[in-house]
Formats: sequence, C-alpha cells, structure tokens
Amino acid sequence: MDMPFDLASLPTGALIQISPLVGRVLAPNPSPFTFTGTQTYVVGNRDVAVIDPGPDDLAHIAALNAAIGGRPVRAIMATHTHRDHSPGTRPLARATGAPIIGCAPLVIDDSGPRADAAFDVDYAPTRILADGERVSGDGWTLEALATPGHTSNHLCFALLEENALFTGDHIMGWSTSVVSPPDGDMAAYMRSMQLLVDRDDAIYYPAHGDPVEKPQRLARSMMGHRRNREGQILRAIGVDPDGVTIPEMVGQMYKGVDPRLYPAAGRSVLAHLIDLQQRGMAAEQDGRWQAR
Ligand SMILES: [Zn+2]
Repeated sequence: MDMPFDLASLPTGALIQISPLVGRVLAPNPSPFTFTGTQTYVVGNRDVAVIDPGPDDLAHIAALNAAIGGRPVRAIMATHTHRDHSPGTRPLARATGAPIIGCAPLVIDDSGPRADAAFDVDYAPTRILADGERVSGDGWTLEALATPGHTSNHLCFALLEENALFTGDHIMGWSTSVVSPPDGDMAAYMRSMQLLVDRDDAIYYPAHGDPVEKPQRLARSMMGHRRNREGQILRAIGVDPDGVTIPEMVGQMYKGVDPRLYPAAGRSVLAHLIDLQQRGMAAEQDGRWQAR
C-alpha cells in the first residue's frame, strides 16, 4: 500500500498528551481512507471520557485500558457508527463498566466503497445525546453538536474548558471526508460545515490527521472545495445532451488520484448530483446525468 508515512514510525498504542485535558491513542488501522489510523481521544485527568474507541482490535483496546490506567470512565463516546469508530465501544464498556453515550445507532445496509465505512449495526448506546446535551466529569464538559452529512447520525463534541472541538470524520486533518449516499448527504454536510464556520472553536481534534489550528479557515476551505467540485460537475453534465455517467466524470475530475479511491470519489460525485437534482439543476436517466 502506498502510504505517505513510515508505518513503523507511527506511535500506535501510546497515550500522547496533547493538551492539559486531551490525550490521544492511535489505533493500528492505517489505510488510504483512515490515513495513519483512527485516533481515540482520552479527555480528563482524574476521571475521563473516551471518544471514538475505534475498531474492535485487541491491541488497541488493551492500549486504551492502559491509557485509562484504572481511572473512572464517565462516558465512552462515538461521533458516528462507521466501523473504524464505534465497535471498540463494546469491549471497552465490558472492561470498564462505563456507559456508552453519544451518537444514535443507525441501521443501514451499505457495504459502500470501503469496508471500514460500513455501519456498525451492533452499536448500542446507553444514552443518545441530542444537539446541545452535555456529559461532564472532574474539570471537563463535553457538549454534543449535531453535524449530519458524512453520516446522518454524526456528532462533534465540544470540550468547553479548552474551546476545542472533536470533529470525528466531519472534518479530517488531512483530506476531505467521504459523503456517500444514501446515508451521506451533501446538503446536510454543507449546512454542518457552515455551523463550524460560525463557531469560534480554537482547535479541532479530528479522528484522522493532526490537530487543526485556525480551524474556521479549514472549514471555509472545505466548503470552497465542495463548491468548486459542484461547479466542475455542473460543467461536466452541461456538455453532452445525452448526459454523462459518474465513472466518466470521476475519470475527468480525479486525474492523478489513486484509482483505488475512484469508487469513493464516485460516491461523493453522486452526493453532489443528488443535491443538484433536489435543487432542480440536474436530472438522471439510465445512469446518465444531464443539466436542467
Ligand atoms: Zn466515518
């Protein structure tokens, strides 16, 4: 696999403290989609919350237990239920006795273009957080922010004491996130991105990639990237009166990209097309898309 980093040098399994309240542990699941892997965050000092425990991987769960070090766990939290995020909630709950508190479960049969983006249908929260609801411990408060788009059940978590936002897969530190219909929704994603632009978070902690400073700038650039992509798609469907297929569009628009990413790119193009269709600007017949 062609990776932009040396796998052996990744600090998998170690707790790295990155702020007074926030530590992170990297899971051993790097891929072209998860970058260096899923980052699990451990929030708090005397007692903790664990955000996105990641895949149900024996070594990772052991690393999390070591990072927790016997401290009380107030909440095991998932931003959404893709398989690289939430399956670890269950072994960690068994090991610690802590409640699973976070996003809603979602039952969708979607194997999708990537196995780790399939939904974790066994996710079973003790308590579901609605937008604005909070979980707290000794010196820390996490507030849910509903951010549908990447998935319909996606939550970000704001750490009020540090003005930080755990962005899950809504914003990643290294790439745009995949918006894959039927559950992924481009219009919702853009609304959720605007929510972030309008907030004053000082830093983002994404589930994949490095912390993001000057985060509103990145959120704005993510929106600009999607608008550019939408413009490309509008031009592509405006050329031939017989229409154009999604694989044809992907071939044009993703030149130079690893072809293994084409299926995921096709899902993002479809997400744009559905959004354009709902706005009366595109129509589909037999898999061929045309401007309207
Ligand atoms: Zn995801």
